[in-house]
Amino acid sequence: MPTTYTGRLAPSPTGLLHLGHARTFWIAAERARAEGGVLRLRNDDLDRARCRPEFVAAMLEDIAWLGLAWTPPMLSQSERMPLYRAALARLHAANLIYPCHRSRRDVAEAAGAPHEGGDDDEPVFPPAWRPPAGATPPLPTPDVPIAINWRFRVPDGELVSFADGHAGPRQAVAGRDFGDFLVWRKDNTPSYQLACAVDDADMGITEVVRGADLIKSTFRQLLLLRALGATAPAFYHCPLVTDAAGRRLAKRHDALALRTLRTQGLSPASIIERFRNEPAP
Ligand code: GLU
Repeated sequence: MPTTYTGRLAPSPTGLLHLGHARTFWIAAERARAEGGVLRLRNDDLDRARCRPEFVAAMLEDIAWLGLAWTPPMLSQSERMPLYRAALARLHAANLIYPCHRSRRDVAEAAGAPHEGGDDDEPVFPPAWRPPAGATPPLPTPDVPIAINWRFRVPDGELVSFADGHAGPRQAVAGRDFGDFLVWRKDNTPSYQLACAVDDADMGITEVVRGADLIKSTFRQLLLLRALGATAPAFYHCPLVTDAAGRRLAKRHDALALRTLRTQGLSPASIIERFRNEPAP
């Protein structure tokens, strides 16, 4: 039986949705519709310090206002911890992770500031700081909170590649273009990379549609999916919407928040019409 196209919207409730989210979500909805598939909604609410319930309510309202249909139930990452913890145990059993005391600042300083590369991706973790394989301490039992960061050991020198539905063939070399990355944080939360890979596999996502800022994360998630024995989805990274000064939109750009546009009297139809008429970037 052919698999049903399954896409997803995965906003983080750390602020208001803006025009950039609207365009990515509209593209995701259009692609699911064109394939006669379904679109799921995932609430990426793992960042306890920044996520707020009022932003969950606002994003649901904004998505409904735009007229984008998704198939319930909405999944919230904060309610799926046992799944992530089981994935962590699997990575541990495969000897692919290790505990790490280095802070983000240590890594930034080792890489030399400012970080080059023109994106806001993290610097490569120095391989010299990686402990020898085989010396990995046990994970605490699942009922015990994890109080130290754990990193994934990337296969140095391996070429990781995928065919992006929008951007074409993409490739990166593990250990050179990106290094060992966090899978679990010392505040006892999974990293975005781990939670996202686990959920995309568990939700049966066949195509991930998201912003081009996450292309580099895709290489990491492909390695995690493989390590977890899961089939990788297809990927379609949408070009980012920029403001009049050419800066990428962020949640702090309240001027282009959907609800600001709504208060100004813009209709969802006019916003979508604008996306439809934009030349393909
Ligand atoms: N929640 C992530 C974000 O808002 C997106 C995750 C994804 O699409 O993989 O940046």
